Amino acid sequence: MIKQALISVSDKSGVVDFARSLAELGVSILSTGGTARLLAESGLAVTEVGDYTGFPEMLDGRVKTLHPKIHGGILARRDLPEHVAAIDAHGIPTIDLLVVNLYPFRETIARDDATLEEAIENIDIGGPTMLRSAAKNHRDVTVLVDPADYAGVLEEMRANGNTVGYPTNFRLATKVFAHTAQYDGAITNYLTSLGDARLHSERNAYPATLNVAFEKVQDLRYGENPHQSGAFYRDLAAPVGALSAYRQLQGKELSYNNIADADAAWECVKTFDVPACVIVKHANPCGVAIADTPAGAYAKAFATDPTSAFGGIIAFNREVDEATAEAVSRQFVEVLLAPSFTAGAQQLLNAKQNVRVLAITLPAAGAPATNALDFKRVGGGLLVQSADDKNIRPEELRVVTRRQPTPKEMDDLLFAWRVAKFVKSNAIVFCANGQTLGVGAGQMSRIDSARIASIKAENAGLTLAGSAVASDAFFPFRDGLDVVVRAGATCVIHPGGSMRDNEVIAAADEQNVAMVLTGTRHFRH
Ligand code: 5GP
Repeated sequence: MIKQALISVSDKSGVVDFARSLAELGVSILSTGGTARLLAESGLAVTEVGDYTGFPEMLDGRVKTLHPKIHGGILARRDLPEHVAAIDAHGIPTIDLLVVNLYPFRETIARDDATLEEAIENIDIGGPTMLRSAAKNHRDVTVLVDPADYAGVLEEMRANGNTVGYPTNFRLATKVFAHTAQYDGAITNYLTSLGDARLHSERNAYPATLNVAFEKVQDLRYGENPHQSGAFYRDLAAPVGALSAYRQLQGKELSYNNIADADAAWECVKTFDVPACVIVKHANPCGVAIADTPAGAYAKAFATDPTSAFGGIIAFNREVDEATAEAVSRQFVEVLLAPSFTAGAQQLLNAKQNVRVLAITLPAAGAPATNALDFKRVGGGLLVQSADDKNIRPEELRVVTRRQPTPKEMDDLLFAWRVAKFVKSNAIVFCANGQTLGVGAGQMSRIDSARIASIKAENAGLTLAGSAVASDAFFPFRDGLDVVVRAGATCVIHPGGSMRDNEVIAAADEQNVAMVLTGTRHFRH
């Protein structure tokens, strides 16, 4: 039976009414500084924790409730005579109901001007400690961390002579541990992200143990295959413009593969600052293009590989208008993503109810757009790295051939290089005029990727004469280069750094090809 409650909340919504109802049920109330003041001002009888323990709040509130009279009263097992005798001997009454919500850490760090010092001061210590004590002892203690649960608990108390049953206490305790885990996860993520700027240069910037928190967005019907289960979680420190903040405007439920492919398309399309379209199949772009309008970009992206685009995931970095929606609806599309859709476009898409349409806000110019950290599960472990957010700067490019690329060739090379970063290794990408012409992805040898890319261009009826080629890593031998040049490429961009760079550069000179080295590799597995 609940006789005494402790209330200590930062989010004070609904707490006065709740405390008043508890008082009406004859429950005595203990409370901390700000909460006690609010309740007293509202005419409620309340005992300040400092008066109760005989020990005042100190250190700017860092120590308020960390006292045996509080934790003994929460943690004592009522079914063990030794526990009851121990608290009796020390004059400690039980605390049967705990109402706590924590310092607003996440709200604080969400502010642009938040300092590390402010963030640290908003790490709650006594709150989580009491929550964990009460949740551990949920057999005898009811614990509330969410104002949404106040009404249900009151109802149960009223119906059962101030008693709350085990199933409710168990559910509320589970909620508490999820809450404190998320809270600690947010702190870890924040501190990790501060360290992130040093990650490139400092190996030891990674914490000794990694405790990251994700919250569930949704359960999925199944995982990558129907015999696997799956769910989607959102990073609590997700940057603006991340896929996890999507709003689904229409269409069937998203699947595991839909989300993975949508992410690949979205990550690529949002790197362009002119209207762009990216079509993805099985995690690889099968068409990428830029143009003056989204509809123009789509037409070019689709032309790269119409066969593969069937059932594709299509992403735009501009509002989808009627003309674009009309063009896209002519093909079978699984998922369509864009920052927004005009009313006319939405109406058109409505006619195709199965198409999943997602709206996602683009990140602000210059804001971090990728996850701070990349994770990859391996047997019994986790590989962690900083995200591949490197964009090549013009001064890093080095022309190594006798022939310089023309300005048009340079534009095509940079476009191809941008796309190659989003293609699984080994990646070979032919491009011209802001359009992919042939994409070779995911092969175990670079020469096979080169062959596949040129075969695909041929299949799509696209000429490679005068095209630009990007390779995500260096050419280990001249054979890969020979394949792309024979197919029609006149200029090539790749990181360089092979033992046989000289042989590869000589092969380019021999064929009057312009070659640009980036010094940066973009493996993607
Ligand atoms: P109040 O507004 O009542 O003064 O403070 C309420 C907040 O203090 C709650 O968010 C609660 O989690 C937190 N709190 C309670 N006890 C302690 C403590 O001993 N140390 C710290 N740092 N926070 C506490």
